[in-house]
Amino acid sequence: MKRYSLQIAGQAQPSASGQWIATLNPYTGEAWAEIPDGNAADVDAAVQAAHTAFSSGAWPQLSATERGALLRKLAMLIERDADKLARTEVMDNGKLFAEMRGQLQYIPQWFHYYGGLADKVQGATLPLDKKGYFAFTRHEPLGVVAAITPWNSPLFLLAWKIAPALAAGCTVVVKPSEFTSASTLEFAELFNEAGFPPGVFNVVTGYGAKVGSALVAHPLVAKVSFTGSDVTGRAINQAAAAQLKHSSMELGGKSPNIVFADADLEQAMYGAISGIFAATGQTCIAGSRLLVQRSIHDAFVERLVAFAATARMGDPMSLETQVGPVTTLPQYEKVLAYINIAKAEGAQVVLGGSKATRAECGKGWFIEPTILTQVHNGMRIAQEEVFGPVLSVIPFDDEADALRIANDVRFGLAAAVWTSDIGRALRMSERLQAGTVWINTYRAVSFMAPFGGYKDSGLGRENGQSAIYEYLQTKSVWINSGATTSNPFVLR
Ligand code: NAD
Repeated sequence: MKRYSLQIAGQAQPSASGQWIATLNPYTGEAWAEIPDGNAADVDAAVQAAHTAFSSGAWPQLSATERGALLRKLAMLIERDADKLARTEVMDNGKLFAEMRGQLQYIPQWFHYYGGLADKVQGATLPLDKKGYFAFTRHEPLGVVAAITPWNSPLFLLAWKIAPALAAGCTVVVKPSEFTSASTLEFAELFNEAGFPPGVFNVVTGYGAKVGSALVAHPLVAKVSFTGSDVTGRAINQAAAAQLKHSSMELGGKSPNIVFADADLEQAMYGAISGIFAATGQTCIAGSRLLVQRSIHDAFVERLVAFAATARMGDPMSLETQVGPVTTLPQYEKVLAYINIAKAEGAQVVLGGSKATRAECGKGWFIEPTILTQVHNGMRIAQEEVFGPVLSVIPFDDEADALRIANDVRFGLAAAVWTSDIGRALRMSERLQAGTVWINTYRAVSFMAPFGGYKDSGLGRENGQSAIYEYLQTKSVWINSGATTSNPFVLR
């Protein structure tokens, strides 16, 4: 059994508690490693280390070009270790090796991109209404950032936060999910090798209620960057607001995938499949509501069910496997409970609808790819995030009807429209309440494209050039170049 260490101030160490948490392999249901059961003392040590690295100037006063070079060095080390880190995530998370290998090869791009951006952040000289002054702006790092991540894509979602944060000159303490901390702890070891000053990047593992909340409450944390459920995000945002901390929130979704009768139906079918069954439906952008125009509804569902029924389940390390296990036991039970709720609400199961008992699934936490019809948008299955391989199909009549149904949820993370009518595509993209709208595709993301939620799906944006400003604050500097004060008692 492998035993991992916390990473604080460039040192690997156990938790002050002396306790450990077993981390389980979703394919076997068995423990394969232990992570430190961190506590508030570990959080304090990590935040103090990050604060020292920040306030001593060890990190923010390196030139931005030097910081960028270190980020690019880190990118090369991730490229070197991509397969090893991918295997760790497969073991811990149950994600497919085929997906993880691609993801780990893509993650370095975040560090190349923001490493390149680090020295392109510049203030501006300000045009002024007042004579005799010269003024300019500076963009300065906020300080210590708390990065709190979920279990579904540990390193990918971490990169979205720390690449811009480090490029901006902030230092970081990460609290990964207690279910999937191993890859983040392995990744942390690369920082020493790349030559980062100690304390720039720290990881404390453990439970959210203990480690996560202590991190959010720590007075030396300047910003909380969170990805996870809306319930936790709301609580964290309130705790951060109580100390007037900056925060950004990437939360859940209930995204509509909308298929018009004039679409390329084969591509739309693949989009529906990848929208909900990729990563076993455990993605915030899952297209969990499939809106299908009524005139093609029955034929489209028939085709979709026939294709989804061919999905190969089993060992996530096998390149043949298409649908892996659910990552955690509580999540497995939650997904099965939602299927029962949907049935009780009157939904009809046209595919799956139960745990998978196929021999190749062994003792893993597998759920059959599930498709539900007879769903209307008022049902809980259409309103609440399931975060599993469960697709609700809802018919619609026309554009207005599709928009009404699509926007009738409290989330607004993503949406897709399948149509061959460019005018309709543009009209829909304007009116859909979502941070990302895809036309004739699903699931595309990039370090270059801003990503985030409307409504209850979040606050702030990750990715794209502007994400670096989520970790900077702006200062205006005024210089008197000849203004005179005639009466100092009167404000001008
Ligand atoms: P979660 O909210 O249960 O946990 C997320 C993280 O918060 C974990 O590290 C957890 O330990 C920590 N945490 C829990 N309670 C805390 C507290 N009181 N204080 C501080 N930290 C605390 O979410 P999850 O189940 O790990 O992840 C799934 C959720 O994440 C889904 O809702 C999904 O939609 C969302 N998600 C969103 C995005 C996005 O970019 N919008 C991406 C991926 C996942």
